[in-house]
Amino acid sequence: MKRPTVLVLGGGYGGLSTVVNLQKKIGTDDMDIVLVNKNDYHYESTWLHEAAAGTLKPEDVRYDIKRVINENKVKFVKATVESIDVDNKKVGTDAGELTYDYLVIGLGFEGETFGIEGLDKYALSIADVNAARQIREHIEYQFATWSLEQEKDDSRLTIVVGGAGFTGIEFLGELGNRVPELCEEFDVPREKVRVICVEAAPMVLPGFDPKLVDYATSYLKSKGIEFSIGTPVVEATPEGVKIKTGEEKFEFIKAGTVVWAAGVRGNRLIEETSIESKRARVAVREDMRAPGYDDVFIVGDCAFLMNEEAGRPYPPTAQIAMQQGVQVAENIISLAKGGSTKKFVPDLKGTVCSLGDDDAIGNVFDGKLVTGKKASFLKKMIDNRALYMIGGPSLVIKKGKFDVL
Ligand code: FAD
Ligand code: NAD
Repeated sequence: MKRPTVLVLGGGYGGLSTVVNLQKKIGTDDMDIVLVNKNDYHYESTWLHEAAAGTLKPEDVRYDIKRVINENKVKFVKATVESIDVDNKKVGTDAGELTYDYLVIGLGFEGETFGIEGLDKYALSIADVNAARQIREHIEYQFATWSLEQEKDDSRLTIVVGGAGFTGIEFLGELGNRVPELCEEFDVPREKVRVICVEAAPMVLPGFDPKLVDYATSYLKSKGIEFSIGTPVVEATPEGVKIKTGEEKFEFIKAGTVVWAAGVRGNRLIEETSIESKRARVAVREDMRAPGYDDVFIVGDCAFLMNEEAGRPYPPTAQIAMQQGVQVAENIISLAKGGSTKKFVPDLKGTVCSLGDDDAIGNVFDGKLVTGKKASFLKKMIDNRALYMIGGPSLVIKKGKFDVL
């Protein structure tokens, strides 16, 4: 019997977790596993806000995919996926066409702009490692240019962050530490710099525990960060953003840097397939297969999964993406042996949101609230655990966060 080909698209948390769990459980002759990713490295998306602020170097948040795959069992193809034809089992890439018996789509997230005018063009987004590098360098450029200008334009030193969800707040936490460093480096008085977070909802971190939200906002305000709450961004221009401050009332914030962190969607390629999706996220079946396609699994941010108990969808997180990879690997092995699949059941371990390198807030261990150094320590342990789950102890030693106190 021909051995099946398993084609995994995307070397993010979901895709890599699928691959490393497959390679752990199969023999070298059981199946052909092919992993396609546009770079020969994986990046920790969950650390991108640090690279964007400049508190971590871009190279610190990435590692070579070949470090974690067993090349006797997995063929790695560095290529950009261009099309996915699930009816004819073909995937088009810039390195040629690939076919499969089982397909795993883990192509990750894109920033959601909700069609707001100008955002695609004038705002920066913490989308991947190079986008993070661009944000860091853009901010540094604004500081350097301000220092050189004869007639100084102080709005160069204004940074608007759109969205006070977890990404926005974690990025603000890093900026809280980074701005004083930038001021020193470029001889800029701190009072010239404005960092403003604009949030559409009536609160920061909508839905999160109010005590933790209070802690986070007071902490960030103590670092000089301003909040404009309940004031959605309605337009971006080359000069800044327009926000809605009331019924038919608008204000313009002039800013040299606008970072858009107001939500995510799945990868656009999903919308070009014949699989049904909403904002490029597929409402998967309970075993993570796409509706109508028994040979297509979706993992990570391209998958949409309802938490029936809570009556709302599970958030798209790395935590869930990695767990999905474990179940999908098991399901593919079972199908290849003529068996059946099992339901994916998320095991939610809580949420910790960093506020820079040395502080954090978290809701963990069945509702226990943590803040400060303890929460920051936990966050670093979570980051290290993610490395461990994909690459074992050697990856933790190489890339882990050990500045824990
Ligand atoms: P990704 O990790 O986005 O990986 C997708 C992969 O596909 C990438 O390697 C990409 O290069 C590749 N790819 C994309 N398009 C193509 C193409 N056309 N061809 C080939 N390859 C392609 N979640 C948590 O649980 N905890 C956190 O603390 C946390 N912090 C976060 C902080 C930030 C700043 C951000 C932005 C997100 C954070 N998240 C966190 C969410 C988490 O990062 C995502 O849920 C997770 O990355 C989704 O994993 P994924 O495998 O679906 O996709
Ligand atoms: P999000 O959807 O969680 O938050 C986006 C925020 O932007 C919301 O508060 C929303 O009200 C706001 N917003 C929307 N439109 C706006 C507008 N026009 N103007 C101003 N504000 C607007 O998105 P996110 O923060 O990018 O997070 C994406 C996913 O990644 C989530 O599932 C999140 O849980 C996960 N994540 C987790 C962590 C963590 O666990 N530490 C960190 C970062 C991200």
